[in-house]
Amino acid sequence: MSNIQGKVVVITGASSGIGEATAKKLASKGAKLVLAARRLDRLEQLQKEIQDSGGVAIYQVTDVTSNEQMEALAQLALTQFGKIDVLVNNAGIMPHSLLYKKHIDEWNQMIDVNIKGVLYGIAAVLPSMRERKEGHVINLSSVAGHVVGAGSTVYAGTKFAVRAISEGLRKEELGNNIRVTIISPGAVATELPNSITDMDLKPGILEAYKGAIDAESIASAIAFAIEQPSNVAINEMLIRPTHQE
Ligand code: NDP
Repeated sequence: MSNIQGKVVVITGASSGIGEATAKKLASKGAKLVLAARRLDRLEQLQKEIQDSGGVAIYQVTDVTSNEQMEALAQLALTQFGKIDVLVNNAGIMPHSLLYKKHIDEWNQMIDVNIKGVLYGIAAVLPSMRERKEGHVINLSSVAGHVVGAGSTVYAGTKFAVRAISEGLRKEELGNNIRVTIISPGAVATELPNSITDMDLKPGILEAYKGAIDAESIASAIAFAIEQPSNVAINEMLIRPTHQE
């Protein structure tokens, strides 16, 4: 039996890309999934696919920028399944732009989704994890959480923040048997670059994404972190396409 069998896993941003692939991977290994995102039709479809393959999944439309909705999501998981073993803080957006163009609404959205969303997720699951003295928080950072490029300034700022928040969480919860994992992907073939509105940058980024790896490879890394024995914490994985700088 895998260490994933029977685990209750909450995944934000489950409606596409890495979140969707992770949900399918973990469901196939016997996890009970709680799926969250804003697009209801995608969540319904994913739940159906998982159930048709013999897996267990429920969903709730959730905007991670709302602390109340994140609290309600955690409550749903606790009511339905009695515990939360793993939170995958995966929801994220990447509308790259050059600073002088002042895409200030997009900066604010990135800060709200990529930073505040992660914090609200942590806040929602920590009380029950601390009470059980068991849990695992997996946060999606990025290669952009290590390396800053022109045009990725604000996005990289949010992903550096995710790594800082993860490390702080890890240190604060050392005594409570709560594992913390940072997943830092390079280019992965998903809908992520679609939100870029800076047309000076978009064509070059879409070109670079032609060599992207599939979301399944990131799902496998997440599964690997979860299936370690509870005294083994995989703290970070950097996963790039082999050719990526
Ligand atoms: P996708 O665009 O395919 O998926 C992003 C997910 O986030 C969607 O399910 C979307 O769902 C959800 N989301 C966006 N905003 C919100 C919100 N306000 N509330 C709830 N959910 C939201 O991209 P990826 O799968 O690639 O991205 C997943 C994570 O991986 C992100 O954190 C991203 O930064 C990170 N990452 C991705 C890389 C890549 O190259 N693809 C590289 C490095 C990191 P919905 O719109 O339905 O709400």
